[in-house]
Amino acid sequence: MSKILIVEDEVKIARFVTLELQHEGYMVEVAHDGRTGLALCESWQPDLLILDLMLPELSGIEVCRRLRQNSDLPIIMLTAKDDVSDKVMGLDMGADDYMTKPFAIEELLARIRVCLKKHRSSSAAGSGTLTAGKLRIEPANYSAKFGDESIALTKKEFDLLHYLWQHENNAITRDELLSHVWGYEFAGDTNIVDVYIRYLRQKIDDRFGVKTIHTIRAVGYMFRYE
Ligand code: CA
Repeated sequence: MSKILIVEDEVKIARFVTLELQHEGYMVEVAHDGRTGLALCESWQPDLLILDLMLPELSGIEVCRRLRQNSDLPIIMLTAKDDVSDKVMGLDMGADDYMTKPFAIEELLARIRVCLKKHRSSSAAGSGTLTAGKLRIEPANYSAKFGDESIALTKKEFDLLHYLWQHENNAITRDELLSHVWGYEFAGDTNIVDVYIRYLRQKIDDRFGVKTIHTIRAVGYMFRYE
């Protein structure tokens, strides 16, 4: 069952869309301002975001921009007026699609289906082999190699490396790593991330004399092969 987050300050619209989506079998959460919406994206991990442009606290454009720094979450923007510059800006910021209010719910539902489907197929493509220098991982069978030498990684170590690598050159916070690699049950205890980063460095960086996992002070970690 797909999870859809609606960020919309007009309570009536949010309510209407929520009911329709629930009726279609989606799990729905609602936020009425940009800041809460952004926080819910982190904590609830929706599969798709319906994002109004004009929002209190943080505008839809800004929410979009921040999300795109480290997420490929599908985003459908809602614009109140038929304002071309807003739409262009939203699409530039990485929204996948937009709808102008008022809209027919059937059209929104159709676009949601398209967006989710597109995302699923691109995620599947994204699970392919990753290589950098002599380092290579194959998520399909959890294998990691440096040249011809196998690297024995536990599933958690592998998932952590894979996640960082998928966001190559982006600093990822410990909290994000916790929620993506470990799930919510560990939320708050970020020491475990540091411990696993240490394991990875021993098994890869120290052993092969390369640098792959960088500490980004006051933020977290970043994958870059050097
Ligand atoms: Ca609004």
